[in-house]
Amino acid sequence: MFSTAFLDLAPLEEAGGTVVLPGSKSISNRVLLLAALSGGTTVVHDLLDSDDTRVMLDALRALGCSVVHKGAAVEITGIGGVASRTRPAGSGIPPSPSGGGSGWGRSARLFLGNAGTAMRPLTAALALMGGEFEMSGVARMHERPIGDLVDALRQLGCRIDYLGNEGYPPLKIHPASALKLDAPIAVRGDVSSQFLTALLLALPLVARQDVVIEVVGELISKPYIEITLNMLHRFGIAVQRDGWQRFTIPAGSRYQSPGEIHVEADASSASYFVALGALAATASPLRIEGVGADSIQGDIRFVDAARQMGAAVSSGANWLEVRRGAWPLRAIDLDCNHIPDAAMTLAVMALFADGPTTLRNIASWRVKETDRLAAMATELRKLGAQVQEGADFLRVTPPADWKSASIHTYDDHRMAMCFALAAFNSAGARVRIEDPKCVGKTFPDYFETLFSVSRTSRPHIPVLCVDGPTASGKGTLASEVARRLGYRYLDSGALYRIAGLAATRAGLALDVGHEHTIARLAESLDIVFTEGRVLLHGQDVTEAIRTEEAGMNASRVSALPAVRSALVALQQGFRQLPGLVADGRDMGTVIFPDAPLKVYLTASAAQRAERRHKQLISKGISTTLPGLRADLEARDARDSNRAVAPLKPAVDALLLDNSGQSVEESVAQVLRWWEEKQNFS
Ligand code: C5P
Repeated sequence: MFSTAFLDLAPLEEAGGTVVLPGSKSISNRVLLLAALSGGTTVVHDLLDSDDTRVMLDALRALGCSVVHKGAAVEITGIGGVASRTRPAGSGIPPSPSGGGSGWGRSARLFLGNAGTAMRPLTAALALMGGEFEMSGVARMHERPIGDLVDALRQLGCRIDYLGNEGYPPLKIHPASALKLDAPIAVRGDVSSQFLTALLLALPLVARQDVVIEVVGELISKPYIEITLNMLHRFGIAVQRDGWQRFTIPAGSRYQSPGEIHVEADASSASYFVALGALAATASPLRIEGVGADSIQGDIRFVDAARQMGAAVSSGANWLEVRRGAWPLRAIDLDCNHIPDAAMTLAVMALFADGPTTLRNIASWRVKETDRLAAMATELRKLGAQVQEGADFLRVTPPADWKSASIHTYDDHRMAMCFALAAFNSAGARVRIEDPKCVGKTFPDYFETLFSVSRTSRPHIPVLCVDGPTASGKGTLASEVARRLGYRYLDSGALYRIAGLAATRAGLALDVGHEHTIARLAESLDIVFTEGRVLLHGQDVTEAIRTEEAGMNASRVSALPAVRSALVALQQGFRQLPGLVADGRDMGTVIFPDAPLKVYLTASAAQRAERRHKQLISKGISTTLPGLRADLEARDARDSNRAVAPLKPAVDALLLDNSGQSVEESVAQVLRWWEEKQNFS
């Protein structure tokens, strides 16, 4: 996962290959709750591992449920939930488990992050079970409505207080008084379908008689109710429904674990890759595995919308293959009520269409992770689109003139995921995604997955070069800049050090007489950089290449032209998505002459000798300052005077004298230069 402050995307050109998508959030959290309410153990396969499922698992654990990770599966042992049947109404005594479950604690404080799929159903289940519970979340969760659900539960006799604003979490749940199940329970269906889902999932707890729910107002996001009904069915509960208005949980309904259950891949997550195929799978199709034509998730119908826009999609039971069809995409006018989440992806596809696209009936966007209508309009405009934002619709006219933009993501995973696709604009406009880690809510490895099926020509992949003399602090600066950008890091000096070490170990004198033998050796080096260690032919050489002697040997082999050319391809191979920060002597002059940012670090020889001295002393190696300085100057002289790739600033390099700077100050300077190059509108 990228946990950087932002992620700068290279202009992307083409897509192809196969992605295996993570499990559906909606199915995962429903399955977890149902498994927790059932008796016995449920083995859940392909469960989504993300922020929203983690808060659900944490909550279940806090309630006393057993959660065991077994390889890729998760085993949930539930409570055999039959609530008030054995509990004197209003006594405050927690429900006694039946069916050998572990029983839920009678009190807990639950933190549910920004997971609506955990907050709403757990509120309903706990209010019906009885006990003292506090439910809270992140600040945004406290702005997401829950009043309609609380109203419905209060009609039943549940006791729930608002701890902050009326109608919003945090909540305090008290033991219920006698439950009134005779009259139908009315719940509004036009703000969030999660209220109805919550009741449907929880009411079997008290179904000693038929329990009837009546929806007030037009039910939105119906496909999510279908998922709920489908999952309930898998857990032994056959809800009867009368259109979308009236739902009956038959008397005697009991949660029954299916024993094992597989979670299908997330259809909303699939939308980004369906869109990607439509935008950029020009040579070969993009294949999506884990979700397909047999999906029970409503967002699978995004595929129909993508087809309307021009995507060429074929599908099997649990796979999709997408290619670019019509190009530019066709503008559409669509009621998106049935695919509220995936419709965000259509808004970004609209940037690539042949006219204005209108997405209608999406008022629910306003109460999601953020006000998505406002957020979407603001960010699309930054890219140059004309956007009309209605109370419940969005009209997007593609940019006449694309602009580079830093996309704010509002702690909303879907904002980050759909806007990443804007990097496929062919106008070369840059796209920065702020706070990329927000994708962790449903798809922690989203960007890695996106890069694995995205291609662009090498010159498009950003490289930042940091060159300079020995002990100027290049490594520290470059690796920190790479970390901040989420880019790869190349320590080219390490390659010469390794070549020197390998040659010495092979008993070769490091001189022109052995130039070609050493070059052949350098070409065939099997080097792996992993977690701060360096492996040469599988052997850890991290310390061996860091000695002063290894540095001197590196300087010797690096003066041999054949050795230098032998290492060119290897170094250039590090230029991969999302980008690279490379440090050395000739990164900007020879290896990456087209790099968009080149920094040449300088510091006085005295300063550098002092730094190196401190470094060595801290490692317990004894040296003298004058000796070190003489060594440094000798190395600088050789590096600067050699015939090939001598150490010197590239003509377009920016000079940074860091003699008086802290590492943080130099990092900040380089990042400022980088930002200036992006040209954000
Ligand atoms: O940067 P470091 O001290 O690890 O580099 C060791 C030696 O490798 C340098 O003194 C230099 O001679 C050589 N080198 C080079 N070109 C690079 C990186 C390092 O010639 N790009």
